[in-house]
Amino acid sequence: MAQQRVLVIGGGLAGLAAAMQLAESEIAVDLMSLTPVKRSHSVCAQGGINSVNNYTRQQGDSEWEHFKDTVYGGDFLQHQPPVKEMADWAPRIIDLMDRLGVPFNRTAEGNRDQRRFGGTLYKRTAFAGATTGQQLLYALDEQVRRWETAGRIKKYEFWDFLGPILDEQGVCRGGVAQDLVSMEIRDFPADAVVLATGGCGLIYGRSTMSMACTGSAVSRAYQAGVKYGNGEFIQVHPTAVPGADKLRLMSESARGEGGRVWVPRKPQDPRPPRQIPEAERYYFLEERYPKYGNLVPRDIATREIFSVCTKEGLSIDATRLCVYLDLTHIPRATLDAKLKGILEIYEKFQGVDPRDEPMKIFPAVHYSMGGLWVDFEKHAQTGGLVLNSPRNQQTNVPGIYAIGECDYQYHGANRLGANSLLSCIFSGLIVAGTIRTNLKNIPGKAAADQPAGLFSQAVRYHQERHNQLLTRPAGRENPYLLHQELGLLMTKVATVVRENKLLAAAIDQVAEMEERAKQCSLSDTGAWTNQNVVFTKALLDMFPLAKLILRGALQRDECRGAHYKPEFEFPGLTATDSAEKLAQAETWCDRFEENTRRWLKSTIATCGPNNDPVITYEDVDTSLDTPRPRLYGLVGADTIEQVWKKRQEQRASRPLGGANGHSPSQMAGNPVPAKLVAT
Ligand SMILES: Cc1cc2nc3c(=O)[nH]c(=O)nc-3n(C[C@H](O)[C@H](O)[C@H](O)COP(=O)(O)OP(=O)(O)OC[C@H]3O[C@@H](n4cnc5c(N)ncnc54)[C@H](O)[C@@H]3O)c2cc1C
Repeated sequence: MAQQRVLVIGGGLAGLAAAMQLAESEIAVDLMSLTPVKRSHSVCAQGGINSVNNYTRQQGDSEWEHFKDTVYGGDFLQHQPPVKEMADWAPRIIDLMDRLGVPFNRTAEGNRDQRRFGGTLYKRTAFAGATTGQQLLYALDEQVRRWETAGRIKKYEFWDFLGPILDEQGVCRGGVAQDLVSMEIRDFPADAVVLATGGCGLIYGRSTMSMACTGSAVSRAYQAGVKYGNGEFIQVHPTAVPGADKLRLMSESARGEGGRVWVPRKPQDPRPPRQIPEAERYYFLEERYPKYGNLVPRDIATREIFSVCTKEGLSIDATRLCVYLDLTHIPRATLDAKLKGILEIYEKFQGVDPRDEPMKIFPAVHYSMGGLWVDFEKHAQTGGLVLNSPRNQQTNVPGIYAIGECDYQYHGANRLGANSLLSCIFSGLIVAGTIRTNLKNIPGKAAADQPAGLFSQAVRYHQERHNQLLTRPAGRENPYLLHQELGLLMTKVATVVRENKLLAAAIDQVAEMEERAKQCSLSDTGAWTNQNVVFTKALLDMFPLAKLILRGALQRDECRGAHYKPEFEFPGLTATDSAEKLAQAETWCDRFEENTRRWLKSTIATCGPNNDPVITYEDVDTSLDTPRPRLYGLVGADTIEQVWKKRQEQRASRPLGGANGHSPSQMAGNPVPAKLVAT
């Protein structure tokens, strides 16, 4: 049998972790990326990476608390076993990265320094200044280069993955890709194809993501039959600054180091911010959520900032929506030691030193919680994963795996800050065990032994599509303007606040844009480094993903994490009389339970005719931590917390099998398969 090979597409943290681990397992890897791997979007990650550590353990933290914060932060929409396994691995992952040379910030005693991030009360985040992603990426890149020299990894930078190659049984046997310099299109026979291609923020036009985050590779896998989970869950980060080209993140680490969000109490107060006295400042996050303060999870902080600016009319500028993110009370030396990377970005693009003046920020599209559907196998005793199971991180198409930001597995309805770098490295490491197991049991011959026609036919298909784009008569449409139009529409209807009427209309508008995109004129029809045709292909592949985001959002009639429809929000408690307040809280909890029964399900999209998504729903494995109201200590919501607690106590005192029947001990011996159910 010919040598087995694995094609890893994507050289960000997830892809590099997978390539390194596969190579260490003596498996040959082809590693492909649109950009040099060291320019992958992961290089932009600023704030840090989460794990329980010696410092937080002394305060009562544990892997279990990290797991619980993550599923609470995700509004319970993620399968719990993979999240538990990830939290269990986190300390070992940080140790590994430390050993590989990541220059984590240190305390005076030489311990790793830690900061707090959103959605937790513990200082769980390790960081390397404000360039954590870059340091992690470079450390993994060194390992990959070591294996490249040893001949076990072959790197293909500046290559665009065009689609998987499936045999007659629907098993993946490799992929087709295009060299972005010579424009050659060729096949890559592979016994496993791992997608590690990151997020799809470019569908929204401007976002905090890099220009390569178009979602093209994921869309191509989706159009070939891979299911997509929870597409409607798009994270809008609370603190970014606008730019004509993109939106620049001011990392949550700024608030982790003590940054405070505020607006003047007087609308559009003309005084310079530092002349506004404390009493006349509205620290709205601290006032509304005293327990978590400025570090409530991102979905909540974003909605509050949005509401302060739009509903309450307190934007600091009359002409644009923004609030202050204030670091000026922190000593300059501390800011430089811990946040220099992002302060320089602000200074460079806004012309103001944030050490002297509060920053002006507003929310921006940042991350996709949804992604390609992947499987897992739960461990009956630990409640985590069965390692090396053939199922972990495998999609519904045999031989195609997804890891990192492009899978849907770890963050549910809202990702907690500093958990993405962790999920990228974790999923990259564990997918190697899955592949090792599966390579031993591949049906039929190795990919390289498959009939040559399988590969030549796939290459021909993509070559013809490419030629058609170059040679068709000039049309009326400009791909860059269409992309702008798509971005504006998606930003308007599918970000912070969503309304069914607008979503339904947007579905038709996107379908119409998709038709128009077939008439795009290419300004470059050359056969050498043709970026115009590459972008046009990526644009065409944005529409199927835009459609599934919109359709999933339209159908989900509830509020969960980043998905917010005011129409379905539960009213807050208005009564002042305590008995009446209690009655209102009981009704609130009844509604919460009913909503959980109806909507605690993942949205699963399958690509149908005309690239329209066919939506089904999947039960979520909540066997380890029972879903509960997600209030984060909101002022005025304490009666709801009390009623909920009482209900849980009553349930716990009933014999097993009562209520929702989920208790960790009960479920631990009863693995719940990830199953896809249609409604
Ligand atoms: C500004 C910013 C700051 C952040 N800070 C943090 C942080 O502090 N902590 C945290 O946990 N998370 C952070 N995140 C999120 C985190 O950076 C990302 O989720 C993570 O880096 C994604 O890594 P990845 O390996 O999945 O994909 P990426 O790093 O995005 O890599 C994707 C790879 O796929 C390749 N690719 C894509 N399409 C194709 C194609 N068609 N053909 C071939 N190759 C392709 C690309 O070239 C690239 O190599 C931040 C995000 C942003 C935007």
